[in-house]
Amino acid sequence: MPAKEMKTTCPYCGVGCGLKLSTDINEQGECLPVSGDETHPANFGSLCVKGSNLSQTLVPDGRLLTPYVDGKETDWHTAVDEAAERIKAIVAKHGPDTFAFYLSGQILTEDYYVANKLAKGFIGTANVDTNSRLCMASAVVGYKRAFGSDTVPCNYEDLETCDLLIMVGSNAAWTHPVLYQRIVAAKKLRPWMKVVVIDPRKTATCDIADLHLAITPGSDAAIFSYLLVASADTKHLDTAYIDQFTNGFEGCIANARKVTPDLKSTAEFCGIAADDLELLVQLWCSKEKTVSFYSQGVNQSATGVDKSNAIINCHLATGRLGKEGMGPFSITGQPNAMGGREVGGLANQLAAHMDFATPGAIDLVKDFWQAPNMAKENGLKAVDLFKQMEEGKVKVVWIMSTNPMVSLPDTAQVQSALEACDLVIVSDIQASTDTSKFADILLPATGWSEKDGTVTNSERCISRQRGILPAPGEARHDWQAICDLAKALGFASGFSYRAPHEIFAEHAALSCFKNNGKRDFDIGHFSQINQQEYDALLPVQWPVPKGRPEGTKRMLTDGRFYTPNKKANFISITPQKPVLKVTQDFPYLLNTGRIRDQWHTMTRTGKTDKLSRHIDQPYLAISPKDAQTLNLVEKQVVSVANELGRLFLRVKISEDQKQGQVFAPIHWTAAYASNAVVSRLVQPVVDPLSGQPESKIGRVNIESKTDLTYGFVILNQDLKSAVFDEKAMEYWCQIPLKQGIRYELAFSGQHNLAAMARELLTKTAIDAHQGQWLEYENPINQSKRYAYLIDDVVQAVFYFSPNCELVDTAWLVDLVESASKVTAQERSAILVGRLANIEDKGSLICSCFDVGEKQIRLAIKAGDTDLVSLGKRLKCGTNCGSCVPEINACLIADSLAVTSE
Ligand code: SF4
Repeated sequence: MPAKEMKTTCPYCGVGCGLKLSTDINEQGECLPVSGDETHPANFGSLCVKGSNLSQTLVPDGRLLTPYVDGKETDWHTAVDEAAERIKAIVAKHGPDTFAFYLSGQILTEDYYVANKLAKGFIGTANVDTNSRLCMASAVVGYKRAFGSDTVPCNYEDLETCDLLIMVGSNAAWTHPVLYQRIVAAKKLRPWMKVVVIDPRKTATCDIADLHLAITPGSDAAIFSYLLVASADTKHLDTAYIDQFTNGFEGCIANARKVTPDLKSTAEFCGIAADDLELLVQLWCSKEKTVSFYSQGVNQSATGVDKSNAIINCHLATGRLGKEGMGPFSITGQPNAMGGREVGGLANQLAAHMDFATPGAIDLVKDFWQAPNMAKENGLKAVDLFKQMEEGKVKVVWIMSTNPMVSLPDTAQVQSALEACDLVIVSDIQASTDTSKFADILLPATGWSEKDGTVTNSERCISRQRGILPAPGEARHDWQAICDLAKALGFASGFSYRAPHEIFAEHAALSCFKNNGKRDFDIGHFSQINQQEYDALLPVQWPVPKGRPEGTKRMLTDGRFYTPNKKANFISITPQKPVLKVTQDFPYLLNTGRIRDQWHTMTRTGKTDKLSRHIDQPYLAISPKDAQTLNLVEKQVVSVANELGRLFLRVKISEDQKQGQVFAPIHWTAAYASNAVVSRLVQPVVDPLSGQPESKIGRVNIESKTDLTYGFVILNQDLKSAVFDEKAMEYWCQIPLKQGIRYELAFSGQHNLAAMARELLTKTAIDAHQGQWLEYENPINQSKRYAYLIDDVVQAVFYFSPNCELVDTAWLVDLVESASKVTAQERSAILVGRLANIEDKGSLICSCFDVGEKQIRLAIKAGDTDLVSLGKRLKCGTNCGSCVPEINACLIADSLAVTSE
């Protein structure tokens, strides 16, 4: 068959980039190539390093291929029947609210739609929540309080055409890289455009900031409350807009004057210089075309909804929304968090942007679905859901495409909940995840490259995801699995879809059913869509009502909102500091977030060496002063603990951290590292309105461990089974290689290291008898090095030392991966720990062209003192651009070094 190219959508972040994928499959089973879709309005052909390395994540390793019931492999028919019988028995005895779905912003709109319909219309419970609760639930409630609807008014072009961009709680350079690069390019073209970053940390996003406000964590709302006051005081209010299109301004401004009366006290509350706040006020007042771009730093807070409304208040007061280059723009983290919102896939939504409290909505949906058991009120939001599960009130949970054992706060509580739950069903693409261990019924799901459906990105753009590869083994699409269960429960008539386009058409038909302009979400144009049209569907921004097939680029342009009197609401808010305070026992504030090259819990990105090279291990970023106080050195493994648990993380000393604050990334699970699940240390404190956890705030103590032995192991193949136990070893982390695997280790106690190396070898498929051991033990510095060769080909290398600064591993990895016979020089180099003439690249900065920090520093010294000449010499930063902020940091550090010389 000749190779064919298909257009689909990236499965990672909420930018929603269009991709082109070929049916050409190489020997490793990878589709080649993956490239950006030049015609997609989100990215116009660009991709970040995660998107461009997607083909490498399509390897079959670890895929779940058949259903399991109570740990025994079985067929789908048996698994579905078993699930249905158990659900029927539990629901009949204890009621429908003992059932729950826990879904994911990774699944497709069609999957979401049938799950929502089954639970809310047929089983009769609104317990349908999702990991999107952890991502953008506060933004949803903020919009609804202000606009009466969950309407994102802006589009990506607004980010390019504004004159002032305020980025609040967003490290878009790493989390939404293609969108960030669009902003970078726009700023270059329009040098008068100013960017302000509001973030406690100095992140890569600050690379383009004209002003960085490193606020006290959680104090964002005060900034916007004061901006409202300043807008009034400087006569920058749009009084015509306020009078004609809004409710509640007088009360709101009076409250803002009370809670943020002046610049000085506000600056103090936020922990910033008054001059910096003054500068922001000047920018705000002088540049009408303003977008406030906000993300998890705002949403993941006990007052996330108020923060959203503080931002929206400023835009309403100045009439800055619904126009080009203006508006409050919340960005979703996940690829289809927005699709879930459209469907109603949250426990406090009903369906199609209707709530249980919307007059007539329950009957409307009941009629449309012909539903026998309509839920009547809100269900349980994520944190409450798992609390009630622990208490035995929720007895069945179907977890789909997400890993709550890693992502929810207080994972020890989540474990207790899953253990207490009578029936845990898990649908996943991977056989072994931190959550799947608790499954009574485990269902193999299709993955991104195999699924057909739609997703909606942060700018309301609906795009097709197109399956290109066949489903492996017995894997099934999530919508099919849900419909199979629905039929087994006796609801065949409502779930007899033959293909995803039929679900999409029904979803569209519901969106326009008795709508008549009352609801913002209307994609009625697609209510009769057929297979051919669905296959050809081009990206389009909703609403797409009947008669408007081109969709809608910008919303709320006419000043009409979805409240009872069609006016937007000002919401009075009182800025609050985070609920959790540091104490003497836990004196450091822990911030959590993402890194550049990994996605969520690494079930996909963790499979490729390419994405592990930028940052390969879980870490704790700490300020130089705090590191000095605690006597910590770079790369040392430290204990990070609080009332909820203890982690062991590598130290990363960073000038970008403020004193008293530390940062740890969220990605590492028990499958990839020991004691590194950061959510374990996050208290389940939630926003009372949105139920979104305050995941950005934890409090911890940090202890230096001085008695550790450090080591690494490089194997030319993976271990047959996990041998590192987190109880036996404080720290291990596995890092994929092109060929084989590397383990980083740190452990206390006395061990026979030579015996340990030999024991480890027996856990692999390497022939442990035919080869030759090389051994070196240095009695002075206690370092020990072993290597195992068969026919002069290195199979495994083991290095141990009491010192955390081990040697550079890159050349050793190359040696093992080359699988060629070693020379005498290489043989001794393995034992010495250094190979002459091998360039140490330093930590990887440019993943696209494999360029390390040391190479960049050397090139700068050699005279390449700007981005362009570095790009010419090393190619770094010339592809996706994600590494440009880090290259710029090297340039700045070097120029500072020159200045101080
Ligand atoms: Fe995928 Fe987001 Fe990167 Fe685009 S920016 S390629 S959607 S991860």
